[in-house]
Amino acid sequence: MTKRIFRYMSLLILLTILFFAVLGGFAFSGTFGAEVKDGLKTLRVSIINESGEVIFDNVADPGTLENHLDRPEVVGAIQNGTGESERFSDTLGETTYYYAVRLADGNILRLALTTDNATGLLYRFISVILICLVLAAFFAFLIAQRLTKRIIAPINNIDLDADEPDGYDELVPFFWKIETQKRELTAQLAEIETRNTTITAIMENMREGLLLLNENGLVMLANESVLEILGVSEAVGRNMVSVCRDVTFLETAKKCLAGEKSETVMGFRDRIYNVLFNPVLDGDAIHGGVVLFIDITERYAAEAQRKEFSANVSHELQTPLTTIVALSEMIADGTAKDKDLQPFADKISSQSLRLINIIDDIIKLSEFDEDAVPKEFTRFHLYDVADAVIRGLHEKAAAQNITVELKGDSQLFIEANMRMIDELLYNLVDNAIKYNRIGGDVTVSLSAKDDRVRIEVKDSGIGISQEHISRIFERFYRVDKSRSKKTGGTGLGLSIVKHIAEFHGGQVEVESKMGVGTNFICTFEQSHEE
Ligand code: ADP
Repeated sequence: MTKRIFRYMSLLILLTILFFAVLGGFAFSGTFGAEVKDGLKTLRVSIINESGEVIFDNVADPGTLENHLDRPEVVGAIQNGTGESERFSDTLGETTYYYAVRLADGNILRLALTTDNATGLLYRFISVILICLVLAAFFAFLIAQRLTKRIIAPINNIDLDADEPDGYDELVPFFWKIETQKRELTAQLAEIETRNTTITAIMENMREGLLLLNENGLVMLANESVLEILGVSEAVGRNMVSVCRDVTFLETAKKCLAGEKSETVMGFRDRIYNVLFNPVLDGDAIHGGVVLFIDITERYAAEAQRKEFSANVSHELQTPLTTIVALSEMIADGTAKDKDLQPFADKISSQSLRLINIIDDIIKLSEFDEDAVPKEFTRFHLYDVADAVIRGLHEKAAAQNITVELKGDSQLFIEANMRMIDELLYNLVDNAIKYNRIGGDVTVSLSAKDDRVRIEVKDSGIGISQEHISRIFERFYRVDKSRSKKTGGTGLGLSIVKHIAEFHGGQVEVESKMGVGTNFICTFEQSHEE
């Protein structure tokens, strides 16, 4: 490229000089000839004799002219053979140049030329030079334009996608530099793209709601979950006020945008969320905030349930314990009379039994809560287990003249946790007797189809009203507290039944009619695990 530029520049200069010289030559030769001719026409010629008298003058009458002996050019010619001088005329405002030469006959020939002619000559030359310059410049401009295009053409035609550079050698390092940068840029773009895809995938697949706010509270980013949580179809580009009108949310978000990190529990559309507000900081500058919505509905409900359960447990344990302590103290300090000793002892015994039952049930439930129940499934005779449970409760049933009937395939074998199924049956049949009328009946029906086992315990008892049905599986929930306690109930039996059914992948349904009776239907899967 250097060579080419040098070649073209030299060519341009040469062509311009040549053009200027040729054009100037022609112009000068024409102008100069004309000027010389004009100059000759205006040339004043005088012949002066040795005495200084003008004997010939082509302009004025020699007789009218004064003696010229004092003229410096004449003096010079007389003394040295030639003389010259110039004089400025104030009247005409021009300078005249004189040249005198002594002729062989002693006379002096004097030539005079005024500046008028010389300036004219100069002006003509200047105008010719100017015209030549303008033409040369125009010509040079045209050539320069063409040459520039020719120099630039290979640069414009470089194929940056080519494997090898084509064109000027000087551009090769640039080509490789661009090529390297292009490769780096492509790699960086690919990395950004991958990161972007990963972030989008994470954002869209996360259950947590994510909201990114700028410093003015404008939503910059919102994932699908947050739109669902807030119940809006669009959030990006909108102000947070129009996305969520909750006062607590807006106040906390404002604090977050002022740099305060916080966490709050809020409810949106029947769900409970732990909402985390984190300001986006760069040094001391706040650029916005990230809001994360974590669904804690189940955890929250479990927590509330746990708190309620703990409160209930202490309450349930306190009552029998207080009785035991009070009666024991009366026996110990002698305030109990002899005749009271037997009933007190019976009371202490029954309350202790009650305590044992409650604690036993609590232990069972906490095992379910902690998922600590081992999946010990065995193949056993369901009919025999049910029969044993009924026999165990025979006395209790007989005390109220209640008939308990067992129906179903007497050869029914199932695969499940036998201890649990025994417990389930016991609790249901026990309840069916406890909440029955005197002389009522209980029917236990067993069946199995494919992998589903069905246990039905139907009674002709007091029944459960609709408003209580949904709550009887809650821990310590009793419809009739005094009846439950009187009959030795802990209020945990049905909770355990439900857990056992769920443990076997099943559920419990209740059909009940007040004063007519209740039917508990348990269906669950029997496992074929070896
Ligand atoms: P409890 O130890 O009090 O029997 P459960 O958890 O077994 O506790 O039962 C919860 C409540 O459900 C009982 O207190 C009772 O009010 C009601 N219930 C349970 N089974 C029956 C039934 N077969 N008939 C009527 N009410 C029942």
